[in-house]
Amino acid sequence: MHLKFAPETETFRAHVRAWFETEFPKDIIAKYKAGEALTTADVRRSEMALGANGWLATAWPKEYGGPGWGIEEQYVFDEELERAGVPTVTPMGVIYVGPVLYTFGSDAQKARWLPGIRDGSVGWAQGYSEPGAGSDLASLEFSAVLKDGVYTLNGHKIWTSAAQHADWIFLLARTSRGEKKQEGISFICCPLDAPGVTVKPIISIDGAHALNEVLFEDVTVPEDCRIGEAGKGWTYSQYLLGFERTSYARIGGKRAMLRHVRGLASALPEGANERLIDDAGFAARLTQAEIAVDGLEMTVFRILSAQVSGGSVGDASSTVKILATETHQFITQLLLEAAGPFVGHRAPSAGSGPRDVASYLGGRAQSIYGGTNEIQKNIIARKVLGL
Ligand SMILES: Cc1cc2nc3c(=O)[nH]c(=O)nc-3n(C[C@H](O)[C@H](O)[C@H](O)COP(=O)(O)OP(=O)(O)OC[C@H]3O[C@@H](n4cnc5c(N)ncnc54)[C@H](O)[C@@H]3O)c2cc1C
Repeated sequence: MHLKFAPETETFRAHVRAWFETEFPKDIIAKYKAGEALTTADVRRSEMALGANGWLATAWPKEYGGPGWGIEEQYVFDEELERAGVPTVTPMGVIYVGPVLYTFGSDAQKARWLPGIRDGSVGWAQGYSEPGAGSDLASLEFSAVLKDGVYTLNGHKIWTSAAQHADWIFLLARTSRGEKKQEGISFICCPLDAPGVTVKPIISIDGAHALNEVLFEDVTVPEDCRIGEAGKGWTYSQYLLGFERTSYARIGGKRAMLRHVRGLASALPEGANERLIDDAGFAARLTQAEIAVDGLEMTVFRILSAQVSGGSVGDASSTVKILATETHQFITQLLLEAAGPFVGHRAPSAGSGPRDVASYLGGRAQSIYGGTNEIQKNIIARKVLGL
């Protein structure tokens, strides 16, 4: 079962594929495919290459500089980007805060921040979680005190992805206390090089430096760094999460990983004990994973098709988040099995074993970030099914 696109969408696909093959910086693809850590300069160059072609803010409405693509084109573009081995676009600017800015920001804020996000020259990080506020995000304690048109920020954000590459952070801060803990939270942007900000690395189990703690000590930002109304940040933060959770679908990447698993499982010569592809149980699970990706693809398409142009898909994004992350983890389990014989060696013409172990370990985090999968099930039960 595969989605069939109109001939003009396939022509568009061929154009995108050719552009990635000929125009996109080859050294960055090579580094990314080899699993090497990208420097801040690599990340900027990668995203600015897309931005220069108008292909970074692919889902933004045309009036804010998006390419005006329909859902099919966006979908095919994402597939081709992952197929080409182009680094995943850092989502915090273009996918997360961008839509919040053009939906709730003032004209001055749009003029100030949207261009740098759209062209890839300015990196962003997301400051939601705190040591005492993860799933129960509304109990956050980060404080922003307003005096004479200036906010003073104090607090501790944690698990801040890509903060080491970012210039700005958008964060949730408590500016007052209401009856409900969701009230009194404001959505504030802060430059990461402001005096009083400290970014500390966290190294995760896969050996990567993707995460950080960000500490704020009497950091000041002008009042116009707050997006929307004071105390209404919870609403904007949830709007943002709709975009974040849908962005986990990454069908092209999953298909590429499945091809890689198949390659590894077939890599040993016929008759070898470990030739996994000949194992009926493994082959059946591999097929099951392929079917799961097809199912995910249909679900994503159904949900995205219902999306009004430029709007957030809202609570239905929780379904995508669960399906996408469980499928990813299932594929990485197969990857681990297939990569086993190659760990510590180069696999013959099939890629590297150690990197696959890191993929497996990194994949465990997918059911945690963006709101854990247990929390997504609660959202589906309450808000989608009305239970
Ligand atoms: C790789 C990675 C990247 C991240 N990037 C960012 C980022 O860039 N910015 C950012 O702000 N945050 C980020 N996070 C943080 C992430 O959003 C939180 O880790 C997540 O929301 C869970 O919060 P917690 O870690 O405090 O776990 P907890 O909330 O303490 O949860 C612990 C366990 O209890 C379960 N649980 C909690 N409450 C309930 C409930 N009501 N019902 C059922 N089960 C429940 C959870 O599902 C989980 O299994 C990232 C996390 C990871 C792992």
